[in-house]
Amino acid sequence: MGLEEKLPSGFLLTTVEQLAGYMRKGSLWPATFGLACCAIEMMATSGGRYDLARFGTEVFRASPRQADLMIVAGRVSQKMAPVLRQVYDQMAEPKWVLAMGVCASSGGMFNNYAIVQGVDHVVPVDIYLPGCPPRPEMLMHAIITLHDKIQHMPLGANRAEAVRAAEQAALDQ
Ligand code: SF4
Repeated sequence: MGLEEKLPSGFLLTTVEQLAGYMRKGSLWPATFGLACCAIEMMATSGGRYDLARFGTEVFRASPRQADLMIVAGRVSQKMAPVLRQVYDQMAEPKWVLAMGVCASSGGMFNNYAIVQGVDHVVPVDIYLPGCPPRPEMLMHAIITLHDKIQHMPLGANRAEAVRAAEQAALDQ
């Protein structure tokens, strides 16, 4: 019996997908992008005390073209929304977005005309992190949760396909 007959169908592709997911999740590069008070906690997370480097995410990039993770740390004003979208568009695929804190997730206590009521009105969000502000431990937990998502992301799937797959999975539950 040949090797191909012994291996389960799709074995090789699944293994490559798992390897790619493992590599991607271990080298997330966040865009340098802080909007308000939550950004202070984000900066603290990458400092020596919390050492975000342990999870392969310490290299904050000044250019969005070198980043694959956007941590929206703070409230998003209506004036800032187009800028945020432009930064997101300039990031290369595959890319992920983490809404840090209640302001980024839903507008929080700023229920007014000047603040976007959730950054998911502007960019697709992968992880919502509650808190005002979330502590560094919470941000690290959110990033580890995102790692799981990245690990199981199909290889070659572009952003729209991944979002559609996630929506379909939620409908099927
Ligand atoms: Fe500031 Fe709290 Fe809003 Fe974060 S969630 S930006 S700490 S007000």
